[in-house]
Amino acid sequence: MSVQEEKLMENEMEKEVVSKNFIEQIIEKDLEEGYYDHVQTRFPPEPNGYLHIGHAKSILLNYGLAQKYNGKFNMRFDDTNPTKEKTEFVQSILEDIRWLGADWEDRLFFASDYFEQMYEAAVKLIKKGKAYVCDLSADEIREYRGTLTEPGKNSPYRDRSIEENLQLFENMKNGMYQDGEKVLRAKIDMSSPNINMRDPVIYRVAHMTHHNTGDKWCIYPMYDFAHPIEDAIEHITHSICTLEFEDHRPLYEWVVNELEYPNPPKQIEFAKLYLTNVITGKRYIKKLVEDGIVDGWDDPRLVSIAALRRRGFTPEAIKNFVELVGVSKANSSVDYAMLEYCIREDLKLKVPRMMAILDPVKLVIDNYPENQSELVEAVNNQENEEMGSRMLPFSKELYIEREDFMEEPPKKYFRMFPGNEVRLMYAYLVTCTGCEKDENGNVTVVHCTYDPATRGGNAPDGRKVKGTIHWVSAKEAVEAEVRLYENIVDEEKGKLNDDGTLNLNPNSLTVLKSCYLEPELAKTEKLDKFQFVRNGFFCVDSKDSTKEKPVFNRIVSLKSSFKL
Ligand code: ATP
Ligand code: MG
Repeated sequence: MSVQEEKLMENEMEKEVVSKNFIEQIIEKDLEEGYYDHVQTRFPPEPNGYLHIGHAKSILLNYGLAQKYNGKFNMRFDDTNPTKEKTEFVQSILEDIRWLGADWEDRLFFASDYFEQMYEAAVKLIKKGKAYVCDLSADEIREYRGTLTEPGKNSPYRDRSIEENLQLFENMKNGMYQDGEKVLRAKIDMSSPNINMRDPVIYRVAHMTHHNTGDKWCIYPMYDFAHPIEDAIEHITHSICTLEFEDHRPLYEWVVNELEYPNPPKQIEFAKLYLTNVITGKRYIKKLVEDGIVDGWDDPRLVSIAALRRRGFTPEAIKNFVELVGVSKANSSVDYAMLEYCIREDLKLKVPRMMAILDPVKLVIDNYPENQSELVEAVNNQENEEMGSRMLPFSKELYIEREDFMEEPPKKYFRMFPGNEVRLMYAYLVTCTGCEKDENGNVTVVHCTYDPATRGGNAPDGRKVKGTIHWVSAKEAVEAEVRLYENIVDEEKGKLNDDGTLNLNPNSLTVLKSCYLEPELAKTEKLDKFQFVRNGFFCVDSKDSTKEKPVFNRIVSLKSSFKL
């Protein structure tokens, strides 16, 4: 990302604070007009998978609105569909939301706790002549429904009496029918231009065990009927969902109006968050996990909340990211580089800048005394003085990055090459004298001499050097594994192959087994995120790192490698 682009983003971030998004405008109008006297929002996931960055947007949007208007934020599992739901996801979802900082206080709800009220609501509709039991099969219902251009036809069961409907619905509840034999439908309008309004099914027979209610029910409400009831029961005011539900809004309104809830909730839609070069589809991730291409749902190359956390993203960075993206009514994709920008900005002043050599080659200072060692002072963060400094061990044998030495350098290479003087950061000026190589011509040791008068890295005679390189003392260095990541897919190259499989980036993971870190980095109890000088931001891998063998993930490089 260029400097101008970064400036632009900073401006956007500031603007966001003052301008109101369209949802805030609706809420403020509702409060002003007295339509609501409070604001209450909710996050209603189905417990059927892990949450991802898109869900984070929805969570932070709903929670942020509740906070902004002194309202309440509810956490509710939408567990009305017994086929797909699993209890294991409930815990991971709660953990992720807690980590993001959205606080539901004591309002953790399960839609399945309202099954009784939903049943009562259905009975109420039957009694009002607004719902009927229908014996058509699923295929017949589809046939009768019509198309976008043709109106539907009334079901032959549409005019059953209220008494008969009440009896049949009770029979449905009492398990007298097979799955699919009968459904309850709302009686709305088979010729409505909106297909969702053509007598939608609101209850179905399903002999299935539910993770919460067990075998108590063999009829289950459909999403479009259940969701508005859940919202109304919880006194939700603004029921925020994504754009694909826009056509369902008339049905949402029909349900809350026919059930005569006072001050019923309003559905508001916004565009889903899509990120470039990532995989969010559950089907694809499941396959990647099963094929062993990624290390579980929290593999740092994925964008589930658990994966982002493991990679080293912070809740603050994610919050800034979703604010920067804003809320809109138009679907679009956000560049992954923007998420990277947000984590860099967040960590820049917060984490210490440490020495770590990722691709090591030995550097021997030939004129440095054999058994001597000393401590040099290193600044923890040049942009944040408050972070103070630390002492680094320095000795005759060091490790430097392999790419910081070249026997025959090109023009404008200012680092180590024979005859050139460079600065070892915080330590001394050294002059390269040559190198040793193995039989294949690979450099094994670089040699240099140091000028003892340049301690701290500056010459008393004021002579300048153009290159400064980082290093660690070989004796005290801690060996570690470092994992570098690239996006798992590249949209420019095409996300999918012709056969529909994912076109995976073969370089999405690089494992560096033998990196050398300054000793301070072995004491990672207090902190888990760092800048490694010149190499980027890194985080201790929460799953694989041990005291004996630390493992670090690169969160993000220092400069964007993306062309915007
Ligand atoms: P499914 O395909 O299983 O329905 P889902 O991602 O829609 O997956 P839900 O559990 O229904 O999963 O989502 C919970 C909430 O998160 C919903 O309100 C949904 O609108 C919102 N949400 C889901 N994906 C995104 C996204 N990419 N951006 C913003 N909000 C999202
Ligand atoms: Mg959904």
